[in-house]
Amino acid sequence: MKPIAFGRARTAASAVQTIAVRPNAMFVAGGTSLVDLMKEGVELPEALIDVNGLPLSAIEARADGLHLGALATNADVARHPAVVARFPVLAEALLSGASAQLRNMATVGGNLLQRTRCPYFRDVGFERCNKRAPGSGCGAIEGHHRNHAILGASDRCIATHPSDMAVALVALDAVVHVLGPHGERQIPLTAFHLAPGDRPDREHVLGHGELITAVTVPAAPWAARSHYLKVRDRASYEFALASAAVALEVEAGVIRQARIALGGVGTVPWRAYAAEAALVGQPPTEATFDEAARMELAQARPLAQNAFKVTLAARALVKALEAVAAKGVSA
Ligand code: SF4
Repeated sequence: MKPIAFGRARTAASAVQTIAVRPNAMFVAGGTSLVDLMKEGVELPEALIDVNGLPLSAIEARADGLHLGALATNADVARHPAVVARFPVLAEALLSGASAQLRNMATVGGNLLQRTRCPYFRDVGFERCNKRAPGSGCGAIEGHHRNHAILGASDRCIATHPSDMAVALVALDAVVHVLGPHGERQIPLTAFHLAPGDRPDREHVLGHGELITAVTVPAAPWAARSHYLKVRDRASYEFALASAAVALEVEAGVIRQARIALGGVGTVPWRAYAAEAALVGQPPTEATFDEAARMELAQARPLAQNAFKVTLAARALVKALEAVAAKGVSA
């Protein structure tokens, strides 16, 4: 039995100050990820500050975009009329993740911070995991890595980022709003998560004591024509083997704007810049989509057991692009 101090935050500022002076303290909101990791012995906080009482659960559709409070639940975001109508890729990504029960508890902020499902990371019985125990090695590289990353990996870690929501938000140019001991700051989501490099234990740019307060998504009328396609081993309650979040603006038979991100294949929610560049200025045809997928997956560095993901991700991307193109021409 390990004692854990517990407190409830009255204000965001007091929550930040409380955590900032306690190196082994953590925020807790929905707890759907953190409590599992505590039970598994992966996370061992000495204190938890419950932030559920803070007024950070608003979901607001504004002229300049979408404002998602960090405590908005995944379920509430997924069924919000403005999300469904203006950013269907986000609603679809959320509904493809976890289970209904988990989506009722899981929050926007927590979803961004969820940790990998790599079994070597989550089972402390495995000694080799650079993410959990820096310098110990990587059990997956020479072990079981069928579900691991083909994009953004290093020789220290090949774990995938597990979030579906983050993949859609990365494609939509979302911005993370943070309150920390030194004030507020905003971080583009594309710069929020860190590829493993030689520090797999560092997964994001937040400093200790920084609290996610909101995520905003800029207005983009053509994002109404967007789609999230997820391929997995079973139809529900399963993480992606490969997924694609796609939004296209097509005008006069030419792709004017493209936003693409891939999930299940990257060490971070993977913004597919090469595919986007290959699409813009081209007609929305099968040949264009094939070339975009080929350009993006040319960067893949698969291992023996996950080489199938190269083809799987390419096909998922092409299928998602075809689905969006079939929705019609953007206004
Ligand atoms: Fe640990 Fe990353 Fe290797 Fe998994 S892939 S065992 S998380 S270092």
